[in-house]
Amino acid sequence: MKLIIIGGGIAGLSAAYHAAKNIPDAQITLIESSNQWGGKISTDRVTFDEVPPTSRGDGQFIIEGGPDTFLASKPWGVALCKELGLGERLHGTNPNRKSTYVLNRNRLLPLPEGLAMMIPSDIPSILRSHLISWAGKARMGFDFLQPAKNLNGDESLGAFVSRRLGREAYENLIEPLMSGIYAGDGDQLSLASTFPYLRDLEIKYGSLARGALTLRKQTNGKALQGSRSAFLTPTTGLAEIVEKLVESLKSKVDLRLNTTVSQISNINSRYLVELENGSRLESDSVILATPAFISGALLASFDPALASVLKSIPYASTATVSLAYRQPDMPRPLDGYGYVIPRREGRKALACTWTSTKFPHRAPDGYALIRVFVGRAGQDIPWNENDLLELAKEELNLTLGITAEPILSRVFMWDKAMPQYNLGHPEKLKQIDAALEKHPGLALAGNGYRGIGIPDCIHSGEVAIEKLERELSRSA
Ligand SMILES: Cc1cc2nc3c(=O)[nH]c(=O)nc-3n(C[C@H](O)[C@H](O)[C@H](O)COP(=O)(O)OP(=O)(O)OC[C@H]3O[C@@H](n4cnc5c(N)ncnc54)[C@H](O)[C@@H]3O)c2cc1C
Repeated sequence: MKLIIIGGGIAGLSAAYHAAKNIPDAQITLIESSNQWGGKISTDRVTFDEVPPTSRGDGQFIIEGGPDTFLASKPWGVALCKELGLGERLHGTNPNRKSTYVLNRNRLLPLPEGLAMMIPSDIPSILRSHLISWAGKARMGFDFLQPAKNLNGDESLGAFVSRRLGREAYENLIEPLMSGIYAGDGDQLSLASTFPYLRDLEIKYGSLARGALTLRKQTNGKALQGSRSAFLTPTTGLAEIVEKLVESLKSKVDLRLNTTVSQISNINSRYLVELENGSRLESDSVILATPAFISGALLASFDPALASVLKSIPYASTATVSLAYRQPDMPRPLDGYGYVIPRREGRKALACTWTSTKFPHRAPDGYALIRVFVGRAGQDIPWNENDLLELAKEELNLTLGITAEPILSRVFMWDKAMPQYNLGHPEKLKQIDAALEKHPGLALAGNGYRGIGIPDCIHSGEVAIEKLERELSRSA
């Protein structure tokens, strides 16, 4: 069986890995248009002249351009790392400085303790918080009283949380946390496709807070049994996963960088994959692990209806700017993981991670590493490195009072990178699934469909291979 996988991000690499493992006779080709593997996973390990090489972390700054950790509770990330021999290299976030702040009218206020899956479950901590007014707190209390709403269809995340906890709790607390994950507009995002467990809590417990409290007790129980941090990452960055995957695939897969696919069509019930360099490859199966709008463009002549659904999934553009400073240049201690910025604050930045506190080994002793996350759905941001750098410096000046010039900086621009699972997304998935059923040998993977995080993308590659395996066993 000839299999071509298009897209060498984590989803395509995972598909290749699972194909090599589970389909013994497959001839696998993995095609990636850029000059490196990993897609949005991109780690820069930077040695800076003035830092002694004997310093912590070998004197290196470990700068993540895209994702910086993955969720431990979704099993596919940890499982793959263990299979690749990276289990012992996974570590969590700094357990000693766990605070996160929220920007509120230009001040940094601590996030209340006891948030379970984003939902407040520690009532005294909410009562003490200055993030929400007394009227807002009283409105949050309605969550205990109002029964679950009878609802047939989907609802936006913003409408749902506002309905349960009030608009103020949504705007000041939940929206900025959610934005950090989707860079999205909560009033557009589909609850069913983003945080379905919130609706489950409402139905099961009749209250988000009651449900979150129960879950927190269960999670604390697990923590006592020795489970690790909620977020994990390999010691020298997420690129370690990509490097290990590529190493394990080298002898089994035809790996092609700098190769762009321009179109997919079919010929005599086989797939014809046309490349931008004019050559053509034939195969029995194709997995598209490219962003949904690119998969749509590639399939435009093969199945125009499927292509148009794929192209209708919107993506937001984002950028990250990492800046390193000498510690004495920090006007205030970076005593937490950083801060998130609610949309209503009107800033161009979305969040700021204090990387050298969240992951102490990612900056040498005596240096601070900070990452500013820029761009969210529906908001224009400047699209060149210089302006983004200036925007990040301005954010750090406004909020943290930093006036010194960074000793080094790195800007990563991610055009149309974050899929927006907006209202209507579940219906689109149904249409996509129905279309794929009609095309044996064709599968999709990646962040455009059922999860944006790394574990979900790894899983999507595995699920794509399972579809092909099912079809193979049916035709045998
Ligand atoms: C700034 C940022 C921060 C994030 N933070 C986190 C985080 O902390 N934790 C987390 O779990 N997730 C995070 N995410 C999300 C996560 O990183 C992505 O959802 C995931 O990496 C996407 O993987 P993918 O394989 O689906 O797609 P991509 O990584 O986009 O891979 C698709 C690949 O297809 C290639 N390609 C495109 N067109 C063609 C073509 N025509 N021919 C051949 N190849 C083609 C592209 O070059 C690319 O390499 C973050 C994302 C961003 C952008």
